[in-house]
Amino acid sequence: MSQDPSVPSLTELRQQLDQTDDDIVRLLARRLQTVGLIAKAKAEHATAIRDPERERAVLARVENLASSLGISAPLARKIFSELIDYSVSRQVATLVDSDRSNVSVAYQGQPLTYNQLAAEQYVAGRGLSGRFVGLASLTQVIEQLASSQVDLAFLPIENTVAGSVNQIYDVLRERDLHIVGEDSFKIELCLAAVADAPLPALRRIYSHPLALEQCSAFIDGLPQVQTTPFADSRDAMRAVAEAKDPTLAAVGSPEAARAHGLVILRSDIGNQDEILMRYVALARAPVPVDERVSCKTSLILSTRHEKGALLRCLQVLAEYGLSLTKLESRPRPNRPWEYMFFIDFEGNVAEPRVATALEALRTEALYLKVLGCYPAKATPQAAQASELRPAAESAAGEAPAAVVPLKPAARASKHYKLADRATRPADTLVRVGDLLIGGDGFVVIAGPCSVESAEMIEKTARQVRESGAHILRGGVFKPRTGPYAFQGLGLAGLDMLAAAGKAAGMPIVTEVMSPEQVRPVAEKADMLQIGARNMQNFALLNAVGKVDRPVLLKRGMSSTIEEWLAAAEYILAQGNGQVVLCERGIRTFESATRNTLDLSAVVVLRERTHLPVIVDPSHGTGRRAYVAPMAWAARACGAHGVSIEVHPEPDKALSDGDQSLTYGEFGKLMQGLGRVRG
Ligand code: PEP
Ligand code: MN
Repeated sequence: MSQDPSVPSLTELRQQLDQTDDDIVRLLARRLQTVGLIAKAKAEHATAIRDPERERAVLARVENLASSLGISAPLARKIFSELIDYSVSRQVATLVDSDRSNVSVAYQGQPLTYNQLAAEQYVAGRGLSGRFVGLASLTQVIEQLASSQVDLAFLPIENTVAGSVNQIYDVLRERDLHIVGEDSFKIELCLAAVADAPLPALRRIYSHPLALEQCSAFIDGLPQVQTTPFADSRDAMRAVAEAKDPTLAAVGSPEAARAHGLVILRSDIGNQDEILMRYVALARAPVPVDERVSCKTSLILSTRHEKGALLRCLQVLAEYGLSLTKLESRPRPNRPWEYMFFIDFEGNVAEPRVATALEALRTEALYLKVLGCYPAKATPQAAQASELRPAAESAAGEAPAAVVPLKPAARASKHYKLADRATRPADTLVRVGDLLIGGDGFVVIAGPCSVESAEMIEKTARQVRESGAHILRGGVFKPRTGPYAFQGLGLAGLDMLAAAGKAAGMPIVTEVMSPEQVRPVAEKADMLQIGARNMQNFALLNAVGKVDRPVLLKRGMSSTIEEWLAAAEYILAQGNGQVVLCERGIRTFESATRNTLDLSAVVVLRERTHLPVIVDPSHGTGRRAYVAPMAWAARACGAHGVSIEVHPEPDKALSDGDQSLTYGEFGKLMQGLGRVRG
């Protein structure tokens, strides 16, 4: 077969690829050089190291550039978020560890266990080189540190699935050691065996109890399997490798599986998408931290035996504007049913307000010990107001001015108290994923009426995200007028929706129709929708009121605003305060539109309740051509967002095709929407 000389050979193409990869690494090195110069400039100007505004601007810029070059914007965001984090830790390192270049670190376990990999990440993140000493027990680690055989002990303190590691707290209470650093490490759990056996052939799984707990849902799905606890996951991997029995498997890091020549049967088997372990670095002496570095302080506190004692301690922190990132209670030794509290807050002990707050706390507390002050790495991801990302060629959107006087209604209904603005004058912000709905933000929910296939939802997610939508919608349990119409793909559809949302970097919202659906759907969806037909399904309202998931409560098609608020009250009364109301049109004598979109409800609600209000012009009008103008009108009258149905081929949609926009129509609307003012 003769080859076309104009097409490069595979070898040539691979060389080109290698060349590009090398260039990327060189560019990264160049970026880090600049970062080093910036750190110096900041050192001279006493500027804070982290600049969230600047970071947001960088991410928005690269996202836009990536989109314009046909590269996925979420991918660009992910890569650059990592890069920025790394750059920040390098800048912090220049202020924290400028006087040394290597450290010795003791950890519990063996090489290639999570503890060692995390210790390496911590040391590398500070631009240092390390000598790592793995020891069998926590006591040995602490003794090595106390007797000056190592510089640091690096210990796991908290896990996003399994919670706190109690023994570390006991060590911190009893010993005179200091927290000098923290880090969070992503735990990748995989299942590995000697051969590529089907899962039903497995009989026993080995691992550390914590690792087994973190993938309990996966293991529960294998009823024939028994578990055996091991001192660490690396031992478990070794035991499986040595036994050469294909019915045995171990849970641990992919690195450990590879080191023992095992085959990875399944990756990412953890109960949560992302399992993070928080680690602390302990040293014999405290290390002062430059005030420009954002810092956390940890302390132990025992309160007096007086009513409201803990509250008064927390008030002290609040008075000095110190925000709490963790509050944990542990039993006091030898004092049954008495507790001590472990507290982390954002602040540096070198700041005068922190020093004064600590003094004030000492007068309130029975016992107080500062455990350390260190650069913050593990802090909750800040939510962002859902302002429209300005499309490249359109003017930046401006939040609508408050179009209604936000004064409480004079006469509140007896059916709702918690939802009443008189009870809570400030607007409630509801967090969905990392987005905030409410206040001055304007959120756009978009997606098909129903999830029809994995491919269509993935493609739609990508498209609406590129146009600037924030949240992906898609029904999987569909409330259809007749029983012969398409009823939705059920939980299989939910998996498709969740995967599409994840790939596009968007939180997802989907409808629940019965109380039994609430828990399984809440496990995968970021927000639960109650449809118009179920607005007064009180069992369903009570059920969503019991889970910690935001709820999108659509207005019943024949419900008054009072009834709607009373329905929201059911959810709030169960303890779930995260309700967003959605006006989706009501039944009137008018038949030119599917429903009559009652935009006056928005202004009434903004006055009567503190809950956010959004508008669904798709169901509200039922006609594609009317959706965009009513979306603009919703923004103009003070709604906090819109929900819009979008379909790849509306004419072939399995539900609500007449009111669904094409990708192109949605993209066009999004450019305009940014320009509407209140
Ligand atoms: C929907 O959002 O897909 C839906 C069924 O809406 P509604 O409950 O408002 O009819
Ligand atoms: Mn629909």
